[in-house]
Amino acid sequence: MAIDFAIRNVRLPHSLQSTDIGVEGGLIAVIEPGFVCDAPEHDAGGKLVCGGLIETHIHLDKAGIIGRCSICAGTLAEAVSETAKAKSAFTEEDVYERASLVLEKSILNGTTRLRTFVEVDPRAGYRSLDAITRLKADYADAIEVEICAFAQEGLTNEPATEAMLETALHSGADLVGGCPYTDPQPVEHIRRIFDLGERFGVPVDFHLDFHLDPRSSDLPEIIAQTMTRRYEGRVSIGHVTNLSAATSEELEALGKSLANAGIAVTALPATDLFLMGRKFDRLIPRGVAPIHRLAAYGVVTTLSTNNVLNPFTPFGDVSLMRMANLYANIAQIGAPAELARIFDMITLMAAKLVGKGRKSLKVGAPADLVIFDACSSADAVAEIAPAVTGWKDGRQTFHRPLPQLLRSARQPKA
Ligand SMILES: [Zn+2]
Repeated sequence: MAIDFAIRNVRLPHSLQSTDIGVEGGLIAVIEPGFVCDAPEHDAGGKLVCGGLIETHIHLDKAGIIGRCSICAGTLAEAVSETAKAKSAFTEEDVYERASLVLEKSILNGTTRLRTFVEVDPRAGYRSLDAITRLKADYADAIEVEICAFAQEGLTNEPATEAMLETALHSGADLVGGCPYTDPQPVEHIRRIFDLGERFGVPVDFHLDFHLDPRSSDLPEIIAQTMTRRYEGRVSIGHVTNLSAATSEELEALGKSLANAGIAVTALPATDLFLMGRKFDRLIPRGVAPIHRLAAYGVVTTLSTNNVLNPFTPFGDVSLMRMANLYANIAQIGAPAELARIFDMITLMAAKLVGKGRKSLKVGAPADLVIFDACSSADAVAEIAPAVTGWKDGRQTFHRPLPQLLRSARQPKA
């Protein structure tokens, strides 16, 4: 068989048998056990392979600024205001440098696609956008980056931002994002973001309902706008932490509406756990949307990193597998079949949310392949399995040899 190289002895997600993969011209040419070829071979040793992990919601522009901010209250309001102060001093080089560190870590953790929000407003100017646009091109051989021009601090209260978002979309931003909870007129904010999305023919993504009161919600407006504008499949929302306070009946009704409207939901467990429930001094609520329960009604649900080393989340190693494990842990999910569905939230489900449905792990699809040190997707989530090696479009992009234990040659006495 004429191929460029073969990866032997891999396990696909949702499969118990191992198989072999052949790559030719950057595409997957064959997936079957034992095919014959004289191309170079990589033995995966029976480990899990997938088409790469996908971050659906991360902020590269404001990562790594924790040293410039202070955290006293640890609330969302403080995180927004501390970051706004720091943002005014961002330079293009500064953003590029911090964002590239995060991007490189995400590649080393097996991520092959990523949607980043980039704040465009009078404080950030276009400096962050210019930096991330350059970064996107510079790392295109290893990771596919999607840029969401984002209004973090409101629209109706800051008219200049709307025109700036428009300029960002003209200059190549892939979609537009809003944050109604920081706007004094959240409904109008939502309408304007949809207007921009429609005008440029791009998806919209909202930071939504980032609190714990189930009776106060912008979700009905998002659902109504999605249906009226026939935007099904092009709307996603992140956080929605108040769903963690909803009753089973409310969740069922919302799950059915969200599935019907084709609205994807992303939970950001690291940030949500850090910021929610600050007024409690005991029995602190977890405050993370129970997205696995929404998934049961057919909602596209994903998990993502959100923030790294800033006032929203003062830690992080950009490991999506860690986010999957964290979610499983706090959602009290442990059965292998359920853990496998959590893995889908950082792979298959995430692929539905971002981009235009680039195929993965099929013959004829781009050869984006990542091997993890686990035998199954459930094990990978349970053990936070590290990525071992990966390819993007058939080109090897990283290699992380496993640690080696150096044991004494002396045998213990019987
Ligand atoms: Zn976010």
